[in-house]
Amino acid sequence: MPTIDEIPKRRSVHDLTFSALQQELVEAGINPFHALKLWSTLHRQAVKTLEEQTDFVPPVQRWIREKIGARESARHFFQETPEPVADIASSDGLTRKFLLRLHDGQTIETVVMGYPRRFTACVSTQAGCAMGCVFCATGQMGFVRHLEPGEIVGQVLHAQRALRAAGHSGLRNLVLMGMGEPLHNYDSVMTALDIISDTAGINLGPSRISVSTVGVVPGILRMAREKRPYLLAVSLHGATEEERAALVPVSRRWPLSELIAACRTYGDTTGQRILFGWTLIAGVNDTPAHAERIAVLLKGIDAHINLIPLNPTGGFSGSTTQEEAAQAFKSVLQAAGFPSTIRQRRGIDVAAGCGQLKAVRNPA
Ligand code: SF4
Repeated sequence: MPTIDEIPKRRSVHDLTFSALQQELVEAGINPFHALKLWSTLHRQAVKTLEEQTDFVPPVQRWIREKIGARESARHFFQETPEPVADIASSDGLTRKFLLRLHDGQTIETVVMGYPRRFTACVSTQAGCAMGCVFCATGQMGFVRHLEPGEIVGQVLHAQRALRAAGHSGLRNLVLMGMGEPLHNYDSVMTALDIISDTAGINLGPSRISVSTVGVVPGILRMAREKRPYLLAVSLHGATEEERAALVPVSRRWPLSELIAACRTYGDTTGQRILFGWTLIAGVNDTPAHAERIAVLLKGIDAHINLIPLNPTGGFSGSTTQEEAAQAFKSVLQAAGFPSTIRQRRGIDVAAGCGQLKAVRNPA
């Protein structure tokens, strides 16, 4: 009878980077050259089951038979991606929200947004979130657990399959702005992005991938140190310590002064523009004076500021800024030299907008 340590731990085959997959083949006595076809079948073609693929060389077919299978039967790797339990389209047909069930019964949400000639997926990195931003439905539900790399990759594969089934070519952009704080789950997120951006697989270029954070300073500095090539999106929401702390509790741990210093380090080290997000809440943070404070705060940083009119959630009573006030806010930023965009509100009728994800079948 094997001890618990001798029983191989089952993992998702989608947890493996390309070099880890090569290593698995080498350990099985197979030429790592064969990893490329296996990788492309899993990620570029996004097949659901490898057993049905018959064009692998015999040693690889044997490896698949011995090592990969359904979750319950697989000796080493399972191949299921998170299981879709709901697929909800917005009334304009431009946004689809998928409710996906993980192996332990937890549910997460993935959103696909259609724009002229392109699709963007917004994926989750955690079930729930520990950051507690007051206007966010995910924050209101609390933290459940981190997602594994394969659970993040699996959301992208599901989105690709859904788009292809609808006759589209696939995703062009990816934002990590779904449920969870990506930099709170740093290692899994970066492994997943290594997989997603691999040119022989899913092949979403790093400049088309945005990693968002509400201000996890150590993660921003680590991204800078490791020269991660993805876009960094920092959610700001307040331009003084008090105003920010009222909306983003985690800023008590990493104050605004530390966050901005980390952003300067990130910009100086990587030479990359930073995307800042600002949720516009009527009467709270949407006056021209707030915009002026942002301009002072970010002076000298290569920044683009995305203005996000608040989307409603059951646990927050704030209301959204009106169009005229949003335009005035944007004008102040632009006059100060900061490019700025008011984000289109998408999928609000199916609770698929920014801050609305909470992994339920019927959005309230
Ligand atoms: S806005 Fe992002 S970081 Fe804040 S609670 Fe929601 S999911 Fe978490």
